[in-house]
Amino acid sequence: MAKLTVRDLDVRGKRVFVRVDYNVPMEERDGKMVINDETRIKETLPTLKLLIEKGAKIILAAHLGRPKGKREASLSLRPVAFKLHELLGQPVEFADDAIGEHAEKVVASLKDGQVALLENVRYYNEEEANDPAFAEKLVKLADVYVNDAFGAAHRAHASTEGIARVITKRGGKAAAGLLMERELKFLGDELENPARPFVVILGGAKVSDKIKVIDRLLEKADTILIGGAMAYTFKLAHGVKTGKSLIEPDHKGTALAAEEKAKKLKVNFQLPTDTIIATPVDSGKLNKKGKPVYDLTNIRTVSGDIPDDAEGFSVGPETAANYAEIISSAKTILWNGPMGMFEDERFAAGTNAVAQAVVEATQKNGAKSIIGGGDSVKALNKIGLGNKVTFMSTGGGASLEFLEGAVLPGVAALSEK
Ligand code: AMP
Repeated sequence: MAKLTVRDLDVRGKRVFVRVDYNVPMEERDGKMVINDETRIKETLPTLKLLIEKGAKIILAAHLGRPKGKREASLSLRPVAFKLHELLGQPVEFADDAIGEHAEKVVASLKDGQVALLENVRYYNEEEANDPAFAEKLVKLADVYVNDAFGAAHRAHASTEGIARVITKRGGKAAAGLLMERELKFLGDELENPARPFVVILGGAKVSDKIKVIDRLLEKADTILIGGAMAYTFKLAHGVKTGKSLIEPDHKGTALAAEEKAKKLKVNFQLPTDTIIATPVDSGKLNKKGKPVYDLTNIRTVSGDIPDDAEGFSVGPETAANYAEIISSAKTILWNGPMGMFEDERFAAGTNAVAQAVVEATQKNGAKSIIGGGDSVKALNKIGLGNKVTFMSTGGGASLEFLEGAVLPGVAALSEK
């Protein structure tokens, strides 16, 4: 990677504006907002500790949820400041605005090695509009810019892109944080010349979401294993009946073209050979959104057509065993997307078997295993295997776009080494 990183910076006594991804899940308990998962906060600690050690004055900025330009109290970052204080072991000042007098006052009071967190940047519509005047106001607070928010780097917003442009135009530096650096290394550099065999596992709901990733990885992988609801569109394209399963009939051509490309490039492209299905029956109840709730009855495994009254929910045991066998001899593994509706225990076995195989290949054969964010990370964490792979991306949409080969605006705006 040719981008400048926080390691390259001399920041003693300087005001460093660090864009972080603190878009953490929260819920209200006894009238207070409580953080449900602090992973994203923890992931920024290496960058923050390095900057503290270097004697920077650290200004943190982030977004939380979608307040759409309004001061929505439930989307305040104040609880994050408390949590960060606890995790960092030093006080974190909180500025209850992202720009303006109050923010400037908090920043001006910082001594070397001290940390302040600004209020949700999305309280201003100008953030998502990447408004240059808003970026200028943010820049007023800082001398140097560091982006450690990989999860937001696919958006050209004021705090992810605009501010980097303004700072570099002024002659200042814009650098990647340590988390950003790791994301670019594992999702980028490490996949350029992977140790072989390179096995790619792709699952999730829709072919249309993943087709660009499939297309790009076909050029690099030795084997591609397809799972999740996405597989049903491939099956449909081959004339197999898919019953009530989640399918994208408009993407039958896309699916066939991917298989054709795999053949041409001699990539071992595998589809599930069996499927766990269930028959949905209207329970007569409505969910919170007023939609009918279906009971999933008569859960069984089929290897061919899915009956008209049934829906596929996961790869079956034969597929899981076959995929696990292939994964066991891999030297590089990239996994994005679950093999089925893993959130429901009755359909989690296939995804869990793949997770187990990825972990074993990593621990026993020294395979490099890279988890491309989103639901595969959730699936691994759910069965306590999250820390047993080489790398888990913190991005969702950003990881997918990066794996597609897209230039992420938040990365492009950083200074070169
Ligand atoms: P994605 O965000 O595209 O990776 O999709 C992940 C979601 O797809 C998860 O919430 C899974 O529950 C869901 N999913 C995967 N396979 C299936 C399936 N066969 N039927 C229904 N939902 C599925």
